[in-house]
Parts: sequence; structure tokens; C-alpha cells
Amino acid sequence: MPFSPKVREEALVRSKRCCCVCQEFAGRATNIHHIEPDAGGGSDEIENAIVLCLRCHSEAGHYNAAHPIGNKYSPSELLRHRDDWWQWCKSNPATIPPKYPIQITPVSLTLHPGKWTSKTEVIVSNTSSTPWFQVWIKATILAEEPLGQLIDLKPCIAEHPLSVTCGGMTVSGEVLGIFGSDIEGRSAYLVRLFRLDPGASCAFLITLREASEGPAHPIELGFSVVEFSDEPPQVLEQSAGGKIAMVLKLPVEGFTVESIGIEVLQINPA
Ligand SMILES: [Zn+2]
Repeated sequence: MPFSPKVREEALVRSKRCCCVCQEFAGRATNIHHIEPDAGGGSDEIENAIVLCLRCHSEAGHYNAAHPIGNKYSPSELLRHRDDWWQWCKSNPATIPPKYPIQITPVSLTLHPGKWTSKTEVIVSNTSSTPWFQVWIKATILAEEPLGQLIDLKPCIAEHPLSVTCGGMTVSGEVLGIFGSDIEGRSAYLVRLFRLDPGASCAFLITLREASEGPAHPIELGFSVVEFSDEPPQVLEQSAGGKIAMVLKLPVEGFTVESIGIEVLQINPA
């Protein structure tokens, strides 16, 4: 029997959609494989499930005992790979897996009082060879209390591909950042990178909002990837009343939006 949707989802979440053998991120190209073959009486429960990429799955599934070449993947070996990887994922919930296609360095940054200047020290990279991704980054102010919007966070990108023709003009722009508080009540920013090409990197420009010395204590910012996909992004739309609108689906649950930064780059007469 195949695994139930609930077991499949649980296996994918525990694995962070990475292959449990080679630990590469596999995205949609994942297989939920029976460790003990179902034909041999293996169960359809989570204990018998392992997430494999297509390459490892074909190797694990197509060993011909009549013509043995190389070494067979035994159920006990698969179980050890699976348990090791799930243990790593469980022990490192906030860490980006080493072979994940989107990497952020550093994952945290301390802004010191009296030294507030624009910084471009945080880099987001697409380490895959294909495809491009739309990426949502979350920057959380790691403080006990919500601190409000202290900084502006702006991706340093040249392309601003969202545009709409409206009232005889073409307006181009991009969402720069959404500020608010997350489900745990911490001040946070969500920033969307419209398109990050294979092998490309994007730096963030971090600037203090007010010309001041900043807060009295160091502020720590934590960065994480909250979503990435190769789906086409939402575009600007013109409503019947002539207003330009963009429908944004936030990539995280329970986020309270306080402000949205949008940069309008060009307004061209048609
Ligand atoms: Zn693999």
C-alpha cells in the first residue's frame, strides 16, 4: 500500500524536503520510499518511511540481485541514514541544511549602538545550478520586547520587473519589505527577492531609519529563509476603479503587518 497523505507530509517535514541519503535538497523531486519493501510486508507507517531524491530512489529501488553490481542499499542502512538525518534536522531547527539551494550568510548580525551605518553584510545566494527562485527572507529582531521598526532592509537588486499599465502610464516597482510582528510577538521584516538566478547572490542594504545613535544596547538580527519557489510571482493589477493593486500572500502564518515598503521606480507615459 502507498503511504497516507499524513505520513507523507510528516516525512517531508521531518526531512526538510532533503534526501535522507545524500542530504541534497530535493524540493518536489522527492520520493517517499518504504525502508522495508511493502511487497515484503513493510508497514505504511512513518517508522518505515524515508525521503529520497530521485537519483537515490532509483538506486535504492533497482538493485538486481540476479546481476549484482555494486552494493545494495539494505533496509538497515536506509534506516540509519534516515534516523541520522532526522536527528540532525530536529537538533538544528533554525539551521539551513548544508546542501539547501538558498543560503544566507551570516544568519545573524549584531548592530552596535553608536555605530549605525548602512551595511551590506548579509548575502543571500542561490547555490543551485537550476532553476531561479523567488525567495522570501525573514529578518527578526532578537529581543525580549518588540522594538518597532528600527531599520530599513532593502535588497540590492537592479531589476524591478513588476509593472502595470494604468491610465496611459506604465508603473514599475517592487515590494521592498514588510514590517510587523511574528507569531511570537517579535518585531520582524519579511523581504521578497523577486528572482534569484542560479549561482546569483543578493546583498541586503540595512539602514537605520532615523539619524540617531540608535538604541542604547546592541541589537541582534536573525535571518532565515521562510519560503522559496519557482512559481511565477504575483504581479500588479489594475482594478476596475483604476487603482493599482498587488495581492501578496504572506509566506508565514500569524504575521501582523504594520507597514509595507514599496519602491516605485519608473512611471512612463504610454
Ligand atoms: Zn539523494
